[in-house]
Amino acid sequence: MEIERILRDVPKKKPEKGEPLGFGKYFTDYMFTMRYSKAEGWHGARIEPNVPQAFDLATSVLHYAQGIFEGMKAFLLPDGRISVFRPAENWARMNRSADRLCIPPFPEDVAERGLEELLALEREWIPDGPGTALYIRPTIVACDAALGVHASKGYLFFIILSPVGSYYAHGLEPVKLLAEETYVRSCPGGTGEAKCLGNYAASIKAGELAEEAGFDQVLWLDGVEKKYVEEVGSMNIFFVIDKEVVTPALTGTILPGITRKSCLQLLREAGYRTSERRISIGEVAEAAKSGALTEAFGTGTAAVISPVGLIRYRGEDLQVGGGKMGEVAAMLYDRLTGIQTGRLPDPYGWRKII
Ligand SMILES: *Cc1c(COP(=O)(O)O)cnc(C)c1O
Repeated sequence: MEIERILRDVPKKKPEKGEPLGFGKYFTDYMFTMRYSKAEGWHGARIEPNVPQAFDLATSVLHYAQGIFEGMKAFLLPDGRISVFRPAENWARMNRSADRLCIPPFPEDVAERGLEELLALEREWIPDGPGTALYIRPTIVACDAALGVHASKGYLFFIILSPVGSYYAHGLEPVKLLAEETYVRSCPGGTGEAKCLGNYAASIKAGELAEEAGFDQVLWLDGVEKKYVEEVGSMNIFFVIDKEVVTPALTGTILPGITRKSCLQLLREAGYRTSERRISIGEVAEAAKSGALTEAFGTGTAAVISPVGLIRYRGEDLQVGGGKMGEVAAMLYDRLTGIQTGRLPDPYGWRKII
């Protein structure tokens, strides 16, 4: 498939050097798009200005959330080349999400080429300050203007780019989590392992209530017994208990994070004992009280590694890690960001050089 280019002056101002970028506040000049129709399949790949679009208010994604997305990051390496962290993993996961949402599979090679061309065109937008990156947001949305609840016949795939700083305003300071017992994020048979739009809409209420109560994020428990730990808002969760690094197993209700997978590999190769298993919030509470729980941290593309300093469960505050980042989290943060930015060698081939 040819990728057409529609280039013109886009009057966007880049953020000033050194200005705090926040997360997803600024967007670059161009985007990559392609379309799907029953007659033509995926077609019409192009790079075009990222400007506001006009659409019919009956567009089905606005009503029934038939849509999926991904998140990855691009970095400028010290030698000036552009690198993306493990994009093939994201395309594969995006097609698994597509399958769950009845979205036709997209050609990963075209998406990859579109991303590469877009990044080459937008390299001026890649920030180079500490903790910054160009965040990549591929998305597919259902486009039929019709109110019947069915799989749409038409789809739009797009990639937009946003220069970002750290995901949390306070950077690497430990976050406070509220273990949620009223609302659930996902259930067996639901869409918990797909990166689909509705999962996030369903999580907002618990997130808002947690924020009002002074917490940074919700710690989700399983949807059946509300007993087993699943994950955090947009991160997978790890615990270090008696020198063993534990993360909930991928049982279908948890988002299979690429940062999670990368951390497990780094941990195993550094000689840590790791285990992917069910872990109850009761076990976490016991371990926190006995002193066996030395660290907890979240992992995800946006925040990379986010240490956890406190978990509230049933009104009780469990302190973790003495209010600072632990050594396992610090090691992972150093290795991951080192590989991403080219500060460290890349023995696993995780950097995709553009
Ligand atoms: C995206 C996401 C993650 C993290 O996945 P990564 O591939 O590491 O970025 C974890 N949990 C949820 C709910 C997510 O949406």
